[in-house]
Amino acid sequence: MDVSRRDFLKLSGAGAGGLILFKGLGMPTKLFAAAPSTSSIPLHKKIGEKTTICPYCGVGCSIIMAVDDGKMIGIEGDPDSPINEGSLCPKGASISQFANIESRLTTVKHRAPGATTWADTSWDDALTAIASKIKETRDSSLVEVDSNNNIVNRTESIASLGSAFPNNEEAYLYSKMMRALGLVYIENEARICVSGAVAADIETVGRGPMSNHWIDLANSDCFLIIGGNAAESFPIAFKWITRAMEKGAKLIHVDPRFTRTSAKADLYAAVRPGTDVAFVGGIIRYVLDDMEASPGNYNMEYVKEYSNAAFLINPAFTGPADTLDGLFSGWDGSIYDKSTWQYQLDGSGAIKMDKTMQDPNCVFQLLKKHFARYTDDKVVEITGTDKTTFQRICQTYAATGKTGKAGAIVFSSSACQRSIGTQTVRTFGILQLLLGNMGVAGGGLDGITGAVNGLGCTLQGLVNHWGPGGGSVRMPNSNEQTFDAYGGTKGRFASILKAWYGDTDHNTSYNYLPKRAGSYDWQSLFEAIDGGTIKGLICWGINPAVSSPNSGAARQSLRKLDWMVVIDLLETETAAVWQLADCNTEVFLLPAASSLEKEGSVNNSSRWNQWRYKGIDPPGDAKSDLWIITKLMSEIKGLYVGQTDKNAQAITQLTWNYGDTPDVVKVAKEMNGYDLTTGKLLSSPGGLKSDGTTSCGNWLWCGMYTEDGNKAQKRGVTDPSGIGLFPEWGWAWPVNRRIMYNRASVDLDGNPWDTSRPVISWTGTGWAGDVADGGDPPVRTSGKYPFIMKPQGRGHLFGPGRRDGPFPEHYEPWESPVSNPLSPQQNNPAVTVWETAAKGTAADYPIVATTHRLTEHLHTGAMTRRLPWLVDLMPEMFVEMSKELAAAQGIAAGDRVVVESARGAKVKAKAVVTARIRPLQVNGTTVHYISLPWNWGYMGLSTGDSGNLLTSRIGDPNTGIPEFRSFLCRVQRA
Ligand code: SF4
Repeated sequence: MDVSRRDFLKLSGAGAGGLILFKGLGMPTKLFAAAPSTSSIPLHKKIGEKTTICPYCGVGCSIIMAVDDGKMIGIEGDPDSPINEGSLCPKGASISQFANIESRLTTVKHRAPGATTWADTSWDDALTAIASKIKETRDSSLVEVDSNNNIVNRTESIASLGSAFPNNEEAYLYSKMMRALGLVYIENEARICVSGAVAADIETVGRGPMSNHWIDLANSDCFLIIGGNAAESFPIAFKWITRAMEKGAKLIHVDPRFTRTSAKADLYAAVRPGTDVAFVGGIIRYVLDDMEASPGNYNMEYVKEYSNAAFLINPAFTGPADTLDGLFSGWDGSIYDKSTWQYQLDGSGAIKMDKTMQDPNCVFQLLKKHFARYTDDKVVEITGTDKTTFQRICQTYAATGKTGKAGAIVFSSSACQRSIGTQTVRTFGILQLLLGNMGVAGGGLDGITGAVNGLGCTLQGLVNHWGPGGGSVRMPNSNEQTFDAYGGTKGRFASILKAWYGDTDHNTSYNYLPKRAGSYDWQSLFEAIDGGTIKGLICWGINPAVSSPNSGAARQSLRKLDWMVVIDLLETETAAVWQLADCNTEVFLLPAASSLEKEGSVNNSSRWNQWRYKGIDPPGDAKSDLWIITKLMSEIKGLYVGQTDKNAQAITQLTWNYGDTPDVVKVAKEMNGYDLTTGKLLSSPGGLKSDGTTSCGNWLWCGMYTEDGNKAQKRGVTDPSGIGLFPEWGWAWPVNRRIMYNRASVDLDGNPWDTSRPVISWTGTGWAGDVADGGDPPVRTSGKYPFIMKPQGRGHLFGPGRRDGPFPEHYEPWESPVSNPLSPQQNNPAVTVWETAAKGTAADYPIVATTHRLTEHLHTGAMTRRLPWLVDLMPEMFVEMSKELAAAQGIAAGDRVVVESARGAKVKAKAVVTARIRPLQVNGTTVHYISLPWNWGYMGLSTGDSGNLLTSRIGDPNTGIPEFRSFLCRVQRA
């Protein structure tokens, strides 16, 4: 397909300020039936036609590739996909250009220490050298026994960063390799992107990801989009929101900038960056007050039975509402002692409850007391929002609390990337539980993952504390010295050990794996590089030179490494970091295959696994991640043959039999797992055993590849539910459940609260509809409550598991121009500050800054800034500011400006002066703010400064996620 720039602009509908979509937001009128299977480019039908999944964001749009004589000649949106129905946004629509760009890496490159250029080398030489580096560094740093005499078998001198883009099978194998080598510094971009949402949602409802799914958005009566800009960041997902709006649903958008999401909204509220806890806290206060006045407008049975509202808390518990000091009981100046944050127990050890919810120590009354301070006026004072609009938003969203109504909260990384990111998302969960919006069609906590397989890769164990399968199979700590002492879910972990170490008894192989002690997250990792602990770093499809907070400091850290291996499609800023300044780091740059050039499954934000097929061969010497991982580990295993010290068995005994041309199907089956007594593939994780008779690489993927075949390849477009579940399209974990917590969508007897949009219903003998969450009969029969991942099956309004309080509390961002209007506690008391962080003050840096994403560029722009089509659409780094600020600074639209923060960087950008940002009045102070994209760097067709040069190395205390979304700066003409 030969598409000129002019054609592309025409096709994408890209006008000045127009929403850019290949097929726009136009959509068939039928609500859930997939569009007819007709291709708009019949040529594809005559040529080799295969499907893939868009390599960019977590929506997971399906794409048809047209391949002729081994060349990618065009692509189009897959009309059979119930997710995108043939639509693609500009990023997805441009991937055929990616198949043919000249800047792709086609050779293996090596930069010797101190060298001024790359040298081409062979795969054999590079893999031999890298394997030797890994062995040498590992063996010289391996801690076999720690100072407490615990066997720990870990190396802290090699670290791994990456990724969110490989297929699940590749990420799984990478995780297996890293753990076998004894690495503990293993992180990926989920840490700095959405980890706050994971910590919040696990606390509130038991699992981290999006609870519902894209198509289900069309079932909603009302959306609260806060901490995100779905229309521009996730355009194809947004069409399901507009589909609901065509039926009368309301859209509320809360954001510092008036974006294209705001333009579509019924109600838009401008807020100061970093104040969403106060905004949603005010809605919670409204709902709690209204429940007293009009209980008939709410599903009080849901609140009483399905949340911990009726549970009684230790009378010694106090919060900011009692003391007015902004703190909860137990604060010792550096950490909370949570002993007063506990439930009251009766003589038999059962939790005491008051189902009238009147006891002053019950969660419901404590919640009311806590949020009573978040009055309309206080919300306005903190956030700077308009009072009348805020009140209308309260009324509009609270209306979803009526039985039979559903409201969805949609958010993404900007809700999480704060020093109170976890508690921000906790407010969303509390509101949804109060309104009975969890488990129902059109409801949910819909946190969006920004990268195509961010969810899948993270759940293969590419964050330091999780093994494959997430939180319930966390990696063991140093005090868990035997398999019996391991505190995670034993059946799942024993099955991983059998998948990894075959015939070796799982009690023995348990000792092979590294045992953790301390913090190994992203920011600690960079601190460990700075401190000289980490000598070698593997960056797999990730670009921390642009994505890290205070990325200037991160670039300096990378140049302190002894060696670094970068595996990527292109020469990224990270690979080229040695070109910025003197540096002795030895760098290997390995050319990887793109998503179009390999096959495997990817997991979208909705948890749906879809299979990507190979369309074309990779260019030159580029190889799939699967090939690179299997070859590298084979090389390392070869070096350990005959060795018995340094925990060599962890490597020599590791099962690694994927063939010379690695077989992705074999890996997918290993992840699914086997009944080792019969040799048959397992059909569900319910059968996993802790006695070593089952193997399963990842319990969440158990059921995807069974004796019935590969369900990620399923392309059925039937929807027997009538609510858009499409159970035959791909396969969703867990066990193909499309809406999590769906036993909360029915009453205690199993009858749907919403009879017009039932997710499941009890037939008397079983559940009809979606795969019921937990599978138990209704609560009145089984006594099993719907939030099965929580200890009592109830959602947590009171969340004692977080480090910064059982209820969310507003604190100012780490850098703020105003004093906290709510309490004398200015910042989150438990915030984590890394020592290199410099704190800006309003005297020096009077302007608030935030960062944002773009439709046309993904993340660091490593791929999208190489594509002429996308660079034409969004050509250069800019900073958006209000007319008032521009006038005050003497800046005109189009001027070059310099933005500076306390990190010392000077970010140059073009001024975009708009009415979409307006100064806000906050507690008597006029607050100006600006917004910058973070998608630029010094490599690619379009180069520029990254917004992350300005951000700081501080983190939310629960996950360490940085505060990208609010910091102080000054701006002036260049
Ligand atoms: Fe769909 Fe996201 Fe790809 Fe755009 S970037 S086509 S919304 S998957």
